[in-house]
Amino acid sequence: MSRLTKLRTKMTSEKFDAFLCMRPENRRYLSGFTGSAGMLLITQDQAFLLTDFRYLEQAAAQAPEFQVVKIGNEPFKTLAELDQGIEVLGFEGDFVTFEEYGKLEQNFARTRLVSRPELVNHLRSVKEPSEIELIREAVRIADDAFSEILQFISVGQTEAEIALHLEFSMRQAGASGPSFDFIAASGWRSAMPHGVASSKKVQQGEFLTLDYGAIYQGYCSDITRTVCLGEPDEKQRALYDTVLAANRAGIAAVRPGLTGKEVDAAARKLIEDAGYGEYFGHGLGHSVGLAIHEGPNLSPREERVLEPGMVVTVEPGIYLPDYGGVRIEDMVLVTEQGCEVLTKAPKDLIIIN
Ligand code: ZN
Ligand code: ZN
Repeated sequence: MSRLTKLRTKMTSEKFDAFLCMRPENRRYLSGFTGSAGMLLITQDQAFLLTDFRYLEQAAAQAPEFQVVKIGNEPFKTLAELDQGIEVLGFEGDFVTFEEYGKLEQNFARTRLVSRPELVNHLRSVKEPSEIELIREAVRIADDAFSEILQFISVGQTEAEIALHLEFSMRQAGASGPSFDFIAASGWRSAMPHGVASSKKVQQGEFLTLDYGAIYQGYCSDITRTVCLGEPDEKQRALYDTVLAANRAGIAAVRPGLTGKEVDAAARKLIEDAGYGEYFGHGLGHSVGLAIHEGPNLSPREERVLEPGMVVTVEPGIYLPDYGGVRIEDMVLVTEQGCEVLTKAPKDLIIIN
């Protein structure tokens, strides 16, 4: 079934006459159009792609199922002119700005506007085989960059240099760019789960956490590895072993039918039992696809259920303030039986001398 057909089935059950799609990933997912500006208006028998003069040719080529409409200074006015008696219009309330919503109300005065961001998000959460192939390639590029960076890292380099080298090798391998601002956090900075690469130099005896990923043909990868510069002491080893055991327990728990909450709990229990529960302050993982963070998540609040074809990260971490932290993140594909680990980079503790 085509993506548009799937969306229309959902529109029918929601009693929507039309759906307005503005989020770039959703726009690309439904239409194939990769430009940076535009919106889709989808009814039961028509599909419009509204974009500006820069993208008209590209839109026509990439989105054959859509009728391309040129927009000028007032996109919502152009949109309303396409209205053939839409009574209920679904839209993405998690993306539309307050100002845009005001303009929508103005131009669709007789229409009921209903926010349903999860409509397209849910379609996107279960990946098609062709999408899984692109994700595999994005993961492979990140895996290869890890073996390469191991040759490069040495005491005295800055985190920023290491992050730049990672990006360079991934772009050389075919990535169109980084999937987010890389985290390269060493020593005390590794206690910050989101420590973006800084000018700090890596030192002997420190942990270095690298969290990075590639975009390949629109699809993201996301991997974290923590390495140790020089021989780890007992505390470092214990910390690392606990996180690794939690990562393995999380992966072992991933299977269809479980909620994100249940999988999170399987890994979290290990960290709690080791006495580090309060230092694991984030969820176990998230879905990945056209966006680096998608739903469903693996977290203590996630009630949504895993389905075959979903791609999620498993990324437990322990962060000790003023000391350092460890996180190990893999991407896994939910299968009929359980899951397949997509990330192949080694995850036993690597010591860089
Ligand atoms: Zn990550
Ligand atoms: Zn992640």
